[in-house]
Amino acid sequence: MNLTDIRTIKDVMSIYNIHFRKEFGQNFLTNISVVEDIADSCSDTPDATVLEIGPGIGVLTQELAFRYRKVIAVEIDNGLIPVLRYTLQDCPEGVVDVVHADVMKVDLAELLAPAFEAGKVSVCANLPYYITTPILMALLESNLPFEYITIMIQSEVADRLCAKAGSKEYGAITAVLKYYGEAEKLFKVSAGNFIPAPKVDSTVVRIRLHKQKPYVPKDEETLFKTIRAAFEQRRKTLPNALSAGFPEIPKETLTAIIEACGHRPDIRGERLDITDFVALADKIYEMKCEA
Ligand code: SAM
Repeated sequence: MNLTDIRTIKDVMSIYNIHFRKEFGQNFLTNISVVEDIADSCSDTPDATVLEIGPGIGVLTQELAFRYRKVIAVEIDNGLIPVLRYTLQDCPEGVVDVVHADVMKVDLAELLAPAFEAGKVSVCANLPYYITTPILMALLESNLPFEYITIMIQSEVADRLCAKAGSKEYGAITAVLKYYGEAEKLFKVSAGNFIPAPKVDSTVVRIRLHKQKPYVPKDEETLFKTIRAAFEQRRKTLPNALSAGFPEIPKETLTAIIEACGHRPDIRGERLDITDFVALADKIYEMKCEA
């Protein structure tokens, strides 16, 4: 079934009496080469399992089903479940499991346990824009050993994820992402490739998760707190920003720690890369332990 064909999409939706649901960020892909390119980039091996978040009417799901050993598609919209049963009927038998659930509420470790036992597991999603960051953070913080996370997101967010330290796009999420893996922009997809067309252009980003994290902080919580504090008060110098995040530590002590890490006291957090943040957080943690 050609699910990128606008006539087919409208027919399927009319048969099942469903409408595009804005509250679920439903913008369906209508360009087969974009769909194929996303599906191709999900794993290095056909033996992989792909967790697809938000299959919609199944356009990407069916391409994944012909490329990989297993596809687990998690869809929040109840109305799309019977549609998917219909649109995915020609997929190789037993490959696709459709799960009706909110991916934010699913126990991914439990859902994917057999998949991880069987081999590599990747994530693929044309993500609803309103929930991109929470979904991405949930995937990263799950600490599940995904091979890749391939996501289509708003181009502006893609710029942020892939930004260099010191640039205006660089933010807390960039630094946190670096802790978990390496992100690369694969290609842009203009708004005209969707129905309905979103207001913004999109970019496909692929994150390769570190098999072994290259940064080993003394305490993860202090690391994330340090990063958050540094960017929450972006315009402030680092001692002032950290002071707001760690009110229990005197500002002079924080300034001394920053200098001991080799930075000038008037530096701003946006200049620090993940290595700098780990070193800084380690010193803050040591100091808290000594106190
Ligand atoms: N994959 C299809 C495509 O590329 O055409 C649809 C993508 S559409 C941008 C986003 C999909 O995610 C919709 O089907 C929507 O219902 C689903 N969705 C939104 N929030 C979700 C959530 N929390 N959990 C699972 N699916 C969700």
